[in-house]
Amino acid sequence: MPELPEVETIAADLRPHLVGRTIIRCDLRFPTIVRHPEPETFIDAIVGMRVTSVGRRGKYILIRLVEELVLVVHLGMSGHLRLVDPATPLVAHTHAVFDLDDGSQLRYTDPRRFGRLLLGTESDLLVARAMPPLGPEPIDPGFGADDLYQRFRNRKARLKAVLLDQSTIAGVGNIYADESLYRARLRPDRIAGSLSRSSVRRLHEALRVSLLLAIKNRGSSVDTYRDAWGEVGSQQEKLQVYGRAGEPCFTCGRPLSLVRIAGRSSVFCRRCQR
Ligand SMILES: [Zn+2]
Repeated sequence: MPELPEVETIAADLRPHLVGRTIIRCDLRFPTIVRHPEPETFIDAIVGMRVTSVGRRGKYILIRLVEELVLVVHLGMSGHLRLVDPATPLVAHTHAVFDLDDGSQLRYTDPRRFGRLLLGTESDLLVARAMPPLGPEPIDPGFGADDLYQRFRNRKARLKAVLLDQSTIAGVGNIYADESLYRARLRPDRIAGSLSRSSVRRLHEALRVSLLLAIKNRGSSVDTYRDAWGEVGSQQEKLQVYGRAGEPCFTCGRPLSLVRIAGRSSVFCRRCQR
């Protein structure tokens, strides 16, 4: 599933091409990919709207339009948002096509259909519960180690589960949770509230470093992730633990362990992570 670095890469790629463009036509080929509002209302509301900015919040792409409307794209497990020439043949599982006033097309494809499109003002989407409340951005310079410590305090859940909880911090999924915990030398099954301030400081730094490095490398194409041009990222070649269960730890050489926490697999080193 695309996480913060992958979504950031797509948003940054699309930004210079989308800002200032007007959506002149919208074709929903699989209307239920729109979760809010009703598909017909979505089309009526979006056509004629001009893009004012392209950003990201957690794992959501936010395409801001005039009149405070936001087109929100969540890629789910296998969603792709691509900007193409309209002559490009439509691939299977293309669910939404947006024609732009410069002749280009923005297409959303999603074979597994876990992704979704939303449209509304930010407050509308929160009130309608179309978008969940999200915690702070871990790479925001204003989000400090002490903020993370306060968010972990009194939490009885395991560290891995708390990192995946989008209302605690936004944008971290299985890949970067495992990578950050390895970098911070913390076991994924530790109780979050048991961490000392210095451990939380290490984890805060590890999250920042892991996420920023992955953005620099244009994300991890471990599954079906592709950028806005359909190209793979390169961070998957640099992952330290994710997807490497049973393989030797890069620090101590011992085979990496696999555990299930909160229904997700976690890979870690029993010697290096405490
Ligand atoms: Zn190790």
